Amino acid sequence: MLAAALRQAAAGRSALRPTWTSQTHGLVSLQARTFANTRAPALAHAATAEPAGAPGFALTDEQYEMQLLARKFALDEVIPKAAHHDETGEFPVDLISKAWELGLVNLHIPEAYGGLGLGVFDSALVSEEIAYGCSGVQTAIEANGLAQAPLIIAGSDALKRKYLTRMTEAPLMCSYCVTEPGAGSDVAGIQTRAERKGDTWVLNGSKSWITGSKYANWFFVLAKTDPKARAGSAFTGFIVDADTPGITVGKKERNMGQRCSATHGVTFDNVEVPHANVLGEVGKGFKIAMGAFDTTRPLVASAAVGLGRRALEEAAKYSLERKTMGTAIANHQAIAFMLADMAMGVEAARGLVWKAAWLRDQGKPNTYYAAMAKALASEVANKNAADAVQIFGGNGYNSEYPVEKLMRDAKIFMIYEGTSQIQRLIISRSLLDQIRAGASAL
Ligand SMILES: Cc1cc2nc3c(=O)[nH]c(=O)nc-3n(C[C@H](O)[C@H](O)[C@H](O)COP(=O)(O)OP(=O)(O)OC[C@H]3O[C@@H](n4cnc5c(N)ncnc54)[C@H](O)[C@@H]3O)c2cc1C
Repeated sequence: MLAAALRQAAAGRSALRPTWTSQTHGLVSLQARTFANTRAPALAHAATAEPAGAPGFALTDEQYEMQLLARKFALDEVIPKAAHHDETGEFPVDLISKAWELGLVNLHIPEAYGGLGLGVFDSALVSEEIAYGCSGVQTAIEANGLAQAPLIIAGSDALKRKYLTRMTEAPLMCSYCVTEPGAGSDVAGIQTRAERKGDTWVLNGSKSWITGSKYANWFFVLAKTDPKARAGSAFTGFIVDADTPGITVGKKERNMGQRCSATHGVTFDNVEVPHANVLGEVGKGFKIAMGAFDTTRPLVASAAVGLGRRALEEAAKYSLERKTMGTAIANHQAIAFMLADMAMGVEAARGLVWKAAWLRDQGKPNTYYAAMAKALASEVANKNAADAVQIFGGNGYNSEYPVEKLMRDAKIFMIYEGTSQIQRLIISRSLLDQIRAGASAL
């Protein structure tokens, strides 16, 4: 039945577009849609009550179906298994396969290569819901989106056909290999080398923290091809089959949270890659690798919104049940105001996610907003998780209750795909450039 719903959504994919029609300056209040499993009529009202041309937040019927499908998957499949995967660190192969069967994985793969060809906005609806269930499972799934993004941006038709189509035929994984032991934020500092020998490139170097690498069918790898050049022309992106001789995947890292999402180091020792697997032009890899984030940061951010919303809902429910001094703790203003702040955070972060995603789908520059969405949503997730633990009191500190996992899981959102400091570098540089250029309004 779920699959049927997805097929229906897929059939109407041309209508899978947000109705955000204006310049989208400023946020209008999103209604508390997330507490109801129905689309709040207030949403439609919020859209129509605005003057003509103002932003609207109503989802299309197809988007709503997609959101419900992902929500049902999170509630029925992910949540019952989340504690097990957190405790054991077991990679969620079954959950990923089920998500793949439902069409909740690889959402951006274009129709020409067998995918649904959905936009970032539609994908954000899905990632929020899955991360609500377990952000570790969501990260494991989203590793595919991150590795595929450079290929979708810059790959030749032949390369896309070869490496994207197979992802739609079987529940395969792929990984994005950029970070190294000596360079994370400083991507221009990576040392993995690729040297050309005729029609073959030979890769040598070590990558670290590569999500899903042990299970990957192929890798996107960024390597230095011209050591003397500046970053903009020193690096090249490659698609590398994971079973190529010379590749070694290291031990699983023992992480604070999102424990079922496997991170491993990957070593390349004289790994031969055909020239046909160069992504775009030789020397243009840095831009391609960074360009992927315009698609993926809104999705990391939407996952953080999902976690922040879960923390809010768990805390709100608990506050109505737990009594102190003869009344539910929700009736203490100190608790109620914490909940109000948590709700404001979720709504504001989701607003930025939707804006960043919508801009990307419109083909407009979104780097500034994607960075804002990532920074804000990840910090809201951390604040909400910590506040939820506080509202649960001693129980919040215990793994019998769901919120200590949320607090551990939340931290990584401020680190991977660019730390909060790096997002602020992007935002501040962009806004100062706009002011220098004489912008009259940001
Ligand atoms: C669980 C997990 C999964 C990951 N998955 C992947 C993956 O799939 N693929 C991949 O390629 N990478 C992955 N990463 C790597 C991740 O993107 C990096 O860890 C991240 O970009 C930060 O880099 P770093 O760890 O080297 O920290 P560093 O760059 O060493 O930063 C250390 C601190 O300094 C700050 N800092 C650095 N430079 C500046 C600056 N210019 N101004 C202000 N502050 C600065 C940072 O914000 C941070 O607080 C993953 C990491 C983790 C932990």
